[in-house]
Parts: sequence; structure tokens; C-alpha cells
Amino acid sequence: MSLLKQAIDQIAIYDTHEHLITPAAYAALNPDIITALFGMHAYIQHDLISAGCSYSTLDAFLDQHNHDIAARWALIAPFWAHCQYTGYGEAVRFSAHALYEINHLDATSLEAAAALHAQYTGIAGYQKLMTLANLSHVQIDAFTWQPPVTTEVPALHYDLNVQTIVDGSVSFAALALHTEIAITNIASYRTALQTLIQKHARDVVAIKTQHAYTRTLAWSAVSDEAVEAVCAQHLAGVPLSSHHAILLGDWAFAVIVDAACTAQLPIKIHTGHHAGNGNMPLEWISPRLLIPLLRAFPAARFVCMHIGYPFQDELLSLAKHYANVYVDLCWAWSIDPVTSGAFVRRWIHTVPINKLFGFGGDAFLPTQTVGFSLQLRAWMNRTLRAEVDAGTLKIPAAIRIAQALLSENQRLFYTRSQE
Ligand SMILES: [Zn+2]
Repeated sequence: MSLLKQAIDQIAIYDTHEHLITPAAYAALNPDIITALFGMHAYIQHDLISAGCSYSTLDAFLDQHNHDIAARWALIAPFWAHCQYTGYGEAVRFSAHALYEINHLDATSLEAAAALHAQYTGIAGYQKLMTLANLSHVQIDAFTWQPPVTTEVPALHYDLNVQTIVDGSVSFAALALHTEIAITNIASYRTALQTLIQKHARDVVAIKTQHAYTRTLAWSAVSDEAVEAVCAQHLAGVPLSSHHAILLGDWAFAVIVDAACTAQLPIKIHTGHHAGNGNMPLEWISPRLLIPLLRAFPAARFVCMHIGYPFQDELLSLAKHYANVYVDLCWAWSIDPVTSGAFVRRWIHTVPINKLFGFGGDAFLPTQTVGFSLQLRAWMNRTLRAEVDAGTLKIPAAIRIAQALLSENQRLFYTRSQE
């Protein structure tokens, strides 16, 4: 085995983006082998649908009340044949091989692996999967304000998700209850938002928003006066037009970014490709739409997630130019591993190396994070090996870059000064 591969395989990864359910929820779910590999929002489902599988067929395949693994596999086999080589499919194959010694996924190999699957269930199984993935620190977006308590696995850390605030759909009643601030106008809404950030500043690692799923990333500064009437309308429960929702969201995002700066919390923003099928407006998701925000808040630290795929080239320029822009390869390796590798190679020769974060599996189940982590290690090796073969990097430099991208950059970025 080459020195480079050996080094990459041994790095304990500082994982900056997952949606992992808690160990207790995992134990309660008690996934069977098909759920472990294909279930719980697994991205491979989106490729299967894209390939022509119906939602009802997918549901029947994933129904773990049906113990007939062979019958369930027969439903999906024709579509799996089309998807097995995509990044999502490759990650499933990595998990199947690492956890169940499966070299070829079919009904026979899945049925034969049932005995091996038993060791990955329950809280002990969750802990074992985290060890297999070799993650030193894991950041999770649980889509909540209040981080869950997960003492069984000390490496788990949480984001504070503000999507509904930034897209203008937030429930004022829920926010008032959570912050104990009565929201009656724009001034008290500001206080509630500031309180939300202050309240959780010590128990979360970052602010997170994926509003690119529900509105455009384009942002502009909004005055209190311009949004006062919209705020009153939302308070009265009158539905907002999309224009007014964006106005309220842009105003609130500015308050949040300010509060995040004070709390030394970075702001993670989903940029680029949407999970799912049938809903992605390409004109909403490009990182370039964030430029007014980047210019308005030079002291903030913005993380553009998922390399803004398929607009990753914009981020080479934005991250090179703006000191407050960082980029995360989370999920990107499985969306498009070839482009992600090429992006890393171009980044090395274009942008300071400390501003790129190398991995987040973006998964809900730890059985799937194992596959994504192995996929990342394989492609990182292939990517840096290509630089060595081209004569642009020596092996020790390639190893240092791997360590920076998989651990050191993130650790330095997310460790707050007073800690
Ligand atoms: Zn995610």
C-alpha cells in the first residue's frame, strides 16, 4: 500500500456535516439491512427515482415490516442496475462491502449478511459504526434550534438551524416560546433572534441554513421600516407573498449574522444541488447570489456547503477573493466524485488551502456515513495521487494537504478562541 493511501486511511476525520439521528432514535428504529443501506432519506433513493423507479415501488422496497428480503430486492434490482455506478451508488457499495463483506449486491448476498448486520444494531452498533468511520468529531444538523442530548457518543456536535427564519416561514409563537421573548413588532422580533443565538451559543458549533431549498439565495439589506408592516402581517397570521417572505427573511438573516459574529459562530449555508427529485430551481442555488451578503458582513465567517455544485467554479473565485468565505466538500464527493476531485486539484493551485473542508457524509444513518467516509478516502487518495503523478506535489506535501482537508482546517476553524 502506498504511503499516501496509508496516511489518508488512518486520518481521524473532523466531519462537518451529517444529519445523523441520535443513538437512541437509531436503537428504536432498529433498521434492517435494506434500511441500513438504502433507507432513511438515503441519497441513493433519489437516483433510483431519477432512473424511473416509482415512489410506491421504492416504499415497498424499503418496508422493513416485510421480512422477505429477496422479494423486496427484486423490486429494486432493475433500477439499482442503472444507479450502482453513481456516487450515491458507490457509497452504498462501500458500506455493503465494509459492513457486510458484500462484493456484489443482490438478494443472496443481502440474505447471507443478516448475521453480520446484528452487530450494527442498538446503541452499541451505532458506536461501532462511528469507530469504523474513524471520525474524531461530527457536526450534525438535526433541523432544530435545540440541540439533542447524545451523551452515548461524545463526538456528536450540533448546528443551530435557522432555515425557517431566513425563508420567512418561522412560527413567531414557537420562537417566542423558545426564547421567552414576546414578539409584538420588529424590535421584539430582533430581540428574540438575538436571544436565540445567545441561548445556544455555547452548545452548538455553527448556524446552519438550507433556505436555498425554499427561496433564492439572493440577499439584500432591508431596513426596519421596510419590513415593519410585513412583520405585523406575519404576526396576524396573514400568509405572506413570496416577495414579502424573502423581505422578512433577508432582514432576519442580517440580525442572525450579526449575532453569530458576536458569538463567534460560523454560518453554514447550503449552496448548489438539491436532494430529492422534481423540485430544484437552478436559478436559486448559485453561490454568486450570496455576494451582497459577503460584502455586507466582512467580519462573519461563511461556509458555502456542497461546493455549490454544479456552480463550484464560482467558489474558486469567491473563496480566493473574500477572506470571509470558506468552502465545504460535504456531500459533494457522493453527488459527483469526479468533479469533486477535479475541484480539489484546482483549489490546491488557486485558493489558500486552509479554507477548504474535506468531508461530511450528510447522512441520517451511521451505516451510510461509513460508506461515505470510505468513498471520500478513496477519492482523496486518487485526487492527490494524480497531483503526485503529475509532478506538482511530493508525497509529504500531499499527506499534509490530506491532513489539512480532513481534519486540521476544520478543527482550527470551529474551535473558538476562549475554549
Ligand atoms: Zn445536509
